[in-house]
Amino acid sequence: MGEIALSTWTDWVANRQNRDMLTYTPEAEAFRVEVKAWLTENLPKGWFDEGFEMSHEERKKFNLEWPSKLFAGGWICATWPKEYGGKGLTTLEGVVLAEEFANAKAPMRADFFGDTLVGPTLLQWGTEEQKKEFLPQILSGKMRWCQGFSEPNSGSDLASLKTTAVLDGDEWVINGQKVWTTQGHHADYCFLLTRTDANSPKHAGISYLLVPMRQPGVEVRGIVQPDGTAEFCEVFFTNARCSKDNVVGGINNGWKVANSTLAFERGMSATTGYRRFEEEYRIMLAAAKENGAIEEDSIRQRLMKYYTKYQILRYNGLRSLGATLEGKKDMGVIALGATNKMFWTEMHKEAMELALDIFGAHSMLIDNGPKESGWPGAQRDKRRDGYPVSPMMSAFFFSRSETIWGGTSQIQRNIVGERVLGLPKEPKGADEK
Ligand SMILES: Cc1cc2nc3c(=O)[nH]c(=O)nc-3n(C[C@H](O)[C@H](O)[C@H](O)COP(=O)(O)OP(=O)(O)OC[C@H]3O[C@@H](n4cnc5c(N)ncnc54)[C@H](O)[C@@H]3O)c2cc1C
Repeated sequence: MGEIALSTWTDWVANRQNRDMLTYTPEAEAFRVEVKAWLTENLPKGWFDEGFEMSHEERKKFNLEWPSKLFAGGWICATWPKEYGGKGLTTLEGVVLAEEFANAKAPMRADFFGDTLVGPTLLQWGTEEQKKEFLPQILSGKMRWCQGFSEPNSGSDLASLKTTAVLDGDEWVINGQKVWTTQGHHADYCFLLTRTDANSPKHAGISYLLVPMRQPGVEVRGIVQPDGTAEFCEVFFTNARCSKDNVVGGINNGWKVANSTLAFERGMSATTGYRRFEEEYRIMLAAAKENGAIEEDSIRQRLMKYYTKYQILRYNGLRSLGATLEGKKDMGVIALGATNKMFWTEMHKEAMELALDIFGAHSMLIDNGPKESGWPGAQRDKRRDGYPVSPMMSAFFFSRSETIWGGTSQIQRNIVGERVLGLPKEPKGADEK
């Protein structure tokens, strides 16, 4: 490709992004104006200016103060019903809200596990008392959560879990071990899967408990990752306790409840999920142009492949939104959820391999490589301790985990094969037939 054709191509790609903005109903568009006005008023001065950057100290202060501003504005979990502290937004208003926060590059969440996983699960399955007790604390950001599902020998085969809970008067007594518990060391509460009936088939003897983490029977040990952070933990329960009333969705009904939580985890923001990839693409393209990597055919082809794939992701997001608005819950929706999870995580692994080739081996050194705040490793780097790696390596390492958490790619393929395409099922244990 000659020089003129090359720059025409890259400029076309760069200019193409974000041009075809969607518009929704007049109500949703009126709501967009409201959100924009709030963001303009509440984000730090200069936020929207070209090249705006915060110092490390300013960023820290902002991260501390922003959740209370979000709470005061009513934007955390704004789609929840008003009676539980939400704004009762419609699906489309929720989408508009996510889009405007994404456009402004403003963080929208306080605590992922509370806002996105256990909160919606409680809305669906919780008793009135549980909703009244826990939802306001999730909304205010006062209560932080972790997810206690995986165990050393129960990950993909989650239903084989062995952590037990036994009723003792008004309390459950819990014994066992969880692993890969993200944010376990910061959490106040854990939504925990436990075996409450050892004699039933394995899916039928599980209960979903809400367990306080700060008690003598709970020991949390951080697992240090190659990038020096210890985001996830091992959690040991030795006669830990929680109230008898903290079982969600009924005793021995935890499998169904857990599947609701997993569905929330696997879902991505319908029309904004692709944005982070677009930003990474932009940073990679600019670097490739600057350092000459773009001259290589294979780099151009891989960049184009990445661009094409995140566009597919974007359109699949719109399909998901369409299905949600039409209230569809059929096999096509299950297929879309499972294929999206495997598609974006596998795409992103390839993209980070491409990024390494663009930025080059020296980007593995701590002061080199991408530094833009939109780069996934850039924020993680600030939290490093003991074993620092560059933002490039941090992003690269983390991309390797994406095809694992929330259900591995192989498990997603099993879901599509068995549940959607109706292919023969894997052989199961005797108690599952
Ligand atoms: C970054 C990160 C954060 C996480 N956070 C949490 C958390 O907060 N809370 C929590 O509970 N868990 C968490 N996890 C754990 C995660 O859910 C599990 O790692 C995942 O479910 C896979 O389980 P496993 O690691 O035990 O692997 P295994 O289930 O042992 O799988 C090993 C390999 O075998 C394959 N495999 C297994 N079964 C099948 C099958 N039937 N067919 C085909 N292939 C199969 C898998 O795809 C995988 O490649 C986290 C994981 C990561 C990486």
